[in-house]
Order: sequence, then C-alpha cells, then structure tokens
Amino acid sequence: MFRSLHMKLTLILLLLITSLMAVVGTFLTTSVSSFFIDSFYQQMDNVFGAGSDFYPTLCAGAEEGGAARLQELVEVRAGSLGVDYSTRNYYILDGGGTLLLGSDERSGLDATANLLAAENGRVGDESDITADFMDVAIPIPEGEPDYIVYILDSKETVSGLNTQLFMIIMQALVIGLLISLLLSFLLSKTMVGPIEKLTAGAEKVAAGDFESRLPVESTDEIGILTGTFNEMASVLQQTLAAVENERTKLDTLFLHMTDGVVAFDHTGRLIHRNPAAATMLGRTLGEDSRYNQLFGSLYPMEQILALHRPDYAEAQQVVGDRMLELYLAPFSSDQEKGGVLIVLHDVTEQHRNEERRKEFVANVSHELRTPLTNVRSYAETLRSAEGDIPQEMENSFLDIIISETDRMTHIVQDLLTLSRLDAGNTEMRFAPFSFRESVANVCRANAMEARRHSHTLTCTLAENMPEISGDRQRLEQVVTNILGNAIKYTPDGGHIAVTGGGSGRSVWVEVTDDGIGIPEKDRDRIFDRFYRVDKARSRESGGTGLGLSIAKEIVERHHGSLRLVPREGRGTTIRLVLPIDPNRAE
Ligand code: ADP
Repeated sequence: MFRSLHMKLTLILLLLITSLMAVVGTFLTTSVSSFFIDSFYQQMDNVFGAGSDFYPTLCAGAEEGGAARLQELVEVRAGSLGVDYSTRNYYILDGGGTLLLGSDERSGLDATANLLAAENGRVGDESDITADFMDVAIPIPEGEPDYIVYILDSKETVSGLNTQLFMIIMQALVIGLLISLLLSFLLSKTMVGPIEKLTAGAEKVAAGDFESRLPVESTDEIGILTGTFNEMASVLQQTLAAVENERTKLDTLFLHMTDGVVAFDHTGRLIHRNPAAATMLGRTLGEDSRYNQLFGSLYPMEQILALHRPDYAEAQQVVGDRMLELYLAPFSSDQEKGGVLIVLHDVTEQHRNEERRKEFVANVSHELRTPLTNVRSYAETLRSAEGDIPQEMENSFLDIIISETDRMTHIVQDLLTLSRLDAGNTEMRFAPFSFRESVANVCRANAMEARRHSHTLTCTLAENMPEISGDRQRLEQVVTNILGNAIKYTPDGGHIAVTGGGSGRSVWVEVTDDGIGIPEKDRDRIFDRFYRVDKARSRESGGTGLGLSIAKEIVERHHGSLRLVPREGRGTTIRLVLPIDPNRAE
C-alpha cells in the first residue's frame, strides 16, 4: 500500500495543501492587518487632517476650557474616530506626556514613538505593522504643546479576526489534507495500479515467461506504455526463438560434424568440444583438459591469442595411427574474453592416398625401368658386338628384347585400363548373360594351361545359376585373372577347383587351389596396385601385380565383391560374388 510512488504522491499532495494554506493564511492575515491599520489612519486623517476643521476647533477648545473641553470635543467625534471604549480609546495628556483624562480607567500610557513625537510638537501618526497597537498623537497647539490628544487602538479586533481566520484556515487545511489523502488513493488506483501491473509483467518477462501479455486498459501514456511493453515482449520472444533456433542448428552441426572442434578460454581451460574431437584425439575431454596439455607442444597459447582474425595457425599431429591437421585461431579480438578455437581435420585417408600415390608412381617407374634397362643392355650388347656373336645368341637376345617390350606393353595396357576405370571412362556394357556359361568357358580356355602344369582342374557349377546383368567380357577377364593366378601360384601337379552357384539375388564363384598360398601379412594387400607377394615369381610368370587391382575395380563397378576366403591348410581360395541385377544391388 505504502509503496514508494504512492507515498511520494501523498507527500506531494500534503505538502501542496499545507504550503497553499500557509501562503493563503499569511496573505489573508497580512491583508487584514494592513486593511485595519490603513482604515485606522484613514479615519484619523479624516478627523484630524488638513481637510477637517476639527483641529482648529480642538485648539480653540483647549484655550477655552482646557482638558475638560478637549474631552468634550473628542467625545463628540468619538463615533468618527471609531472609539469603542474597549479596544480603541482616546486620552488627553498634558504637553509633558502626563495622562490627564481618558475614555477608560487607565492610569498611565507607554511612551510610544508617536507620543514622543507629539511631546516634541509634531503629529505622531507613524504606523508600525509589527507593533501590537495602533496610535495617533496630536499636539495642541503646535510648537510647545499644552495638550496632546492621543488615540490608542490595542489591535484586539484585528487579532481576534486573525485568530478566527487562522482557525478557518486550519479547518480548511484539515479538510484539504483529508481530500489530498483521498486523492492520493484515487491517483494510486489509476496511476500506480497500472504501473504495478506493468512491473509484475516485467518481472515475469525477466523470469523468462515471454508468453505473458498485459491487458491495455486505457489510451493514456500508461496504456501506450503497456502496449509498447507487450510489443517489446513479443519482439523479445521472437528474437529469442530465432537465437535459440540458430543455437540448436549450430549445436546439431557441432555435434554431428565429422571435423573435431575444441575451444579453450583465455586461461587455457576447455569450454567446448564435440564428440568427433574426442574420437580423433583418442581420449576423453573433460573440464580439466588444458590447452597446454593437449596442444601446448604445437603452439604456445599466447601466440595464437596474439593472432589477428582472419589469421590462423596450422599444424599436424599424429595420434595413434591417425594423422590430424589442426587449424588454430583466436575467437575474439578481446584477449580477456576470448580464447582459442581449434578445428581438427582427419587427413589420415588423404595422407594414406598420398603415400599410395607416391608408392604407385615409384612402382610404375620401377616396373618400367627394369625391362627398359634390359632392352637397352641387350641392344647395346648387340650393337657393340657388330655381328660378332653367334646367331643363336643374337636370336635369344632379340627374344629377350621382344619379351621385355611385350612386358612393358602389358604393364602400360594394364595401367591404362586401371586409369580408365579410376576416371570412370570405361564404359561397362551391361547386358544379361549366363554367368555359368562364362565361367565354364574360362575353365575350358585355361584347361590347356592347367594341363601344361599338370594341375587337376575341376569346374563344378550349379545348374540353377541364374543369368546376371553385367559386362560379360570384363567379368570373364576377372575370372580368367583369378584362375590364371591359381594356375601360376600353384606348383605343378596341384589341384584347382572352380565352384559356382546362385544364392538369393546374387551368384558366386570360388577358385580354390592348393598352391603356395598367401601369407597372413600380405592378405590385406594383394588387391593393391603392383603388390606382389613374391615379385620375382610374379615377374617370371609374366605378372604385373595389377591383375587383381583391375579385377577388383571391375567387380566393384558391378556392385559385387572380390575377396580372399580365410581357410585352413595350403593354398588359396578367392570368392567372387556378383548381384544378379547390379542396378538393384544394395
Ligand atoms: P600378378 O600379376 O603378380 O599375378 P595379381 O594382382 O594378379 O598380380 O596378384 C597379386 C599378387 O597376389 C600376386 O603377385 C601373388 O603374389 C598373389 N596371388 C594372387 N593369387 C594367388 C594365388 N592363387 N596363390 C598365391 N598367391 C596369389
């Protein structure tokens, strides 16, 4: 109830009324006093002034009959002089100021300024508003006065009137105060009430309840303020919703991005991290993780904080078998509020690819250099011999040159095939065909070679192998390569079995041999380009180390799979699985 604004209103009204009454009271009492004094001296002037014949009459009377005559004359004019014998009286004094006669029983008079003036022969009619009496002293006759007529008013009438006035003003003040109290209640109801409602609404908004709206009950300033407040709350709500939306988006992005992100405040304390960062760094990141502990060895934190945006620092870090590329940047120009943001990018695959590329180039160079060196050295020998070598030897040299050239052509052709497959330039002629028939053809085509090596080649294909859609020629090339390898890498007199069947939406073929097999450590790499377990053996048998890479590429273009089947005992089993319809393969 007595909230500060209400209290202030009440106090202002009380002060207003009190000061108003004080001013009115002072003005009224002063005016009343002045009016009485003025009318007293006006009355005196009317009777004793130059315009009246009373003064000469008094002078003549004084000469005739002394004080008694003077009293008679004054008594006659008592009405004009306003003598009422109680508050206003007249006195006859001798020239020395001794009281001779008077309208009341007083025995002596105070020596007022006017009386002293009259004793000195001057008319004493000076008014003094501060004095509690009014008086006029008339010396008779002039010069050395024989008598003094003295009129004295005790001002009791004025005082009485003023007391009455004071009482009226006090009553008015009390009524005014009561009215002001009532007014303050009314004002508080009309002004403070809505303000209190506004305050309650603002408190709700401050507490986060942006739904709350206040009813606009008037069209005055408070009404306008309430409307503006509602508008502000709704804008605030919309803005916050937009900010929240953005934050959610960023959070989701932050959470699901494949790059790792970590942020540290300027003291080096971890403030943000996403799951990818923890995975990449291979450790749990908690609030106790510090910049120095994680990245201090790459760059001191101060160095990053001193960077000016958009500058950033780059670094590489190896974590386990991963290679990470790091981008470090300050996230605020204010060092005190800012910190360091680090984006972690996993470049392991890129790094590996780069390594593979380098290895590939080195392999290609090496593979081509060996036959080239051979060709050159045999050619040089032939030239330097200038026909001095036996024809037989010359022929064998030329045979080697031809076979090395064939080998190079073979390598270059394989490389060309691979690069076309890589670039997606090789068009696959997809058409339905009997895969069973194709595999049987390949078996037949290689039977001779198998026999040459005294291998036992069996080809067991299920009758119900369905037709598939694919590039027949290239798939036959794949099976040829697998079967060729089985023949190549199986010591003479081995057993090679080609089996095939259909299952569900795919067909499969397995080529099993009991040859030299592939050691455990090389199993993952035999599909890599130029990878050979035994280089010499491969080269001897005309291998380039690209056959299985090409086969794998072709199979992948058919959405199939080519893999080594883990098995016990000697030899190798390679399994090829192809979807019946590559377009509907998972
Ligand atoms: P290459 O032209 O050398 O045969 P491939 O890409 O066809 O190249 O094969 C890669 C390597 O895998 C071969 O060099 C060989 O060491 C190994 N390999 C492939 N098939 C067999 C198999 N049936 N038995 C043993 N080793 C094999």
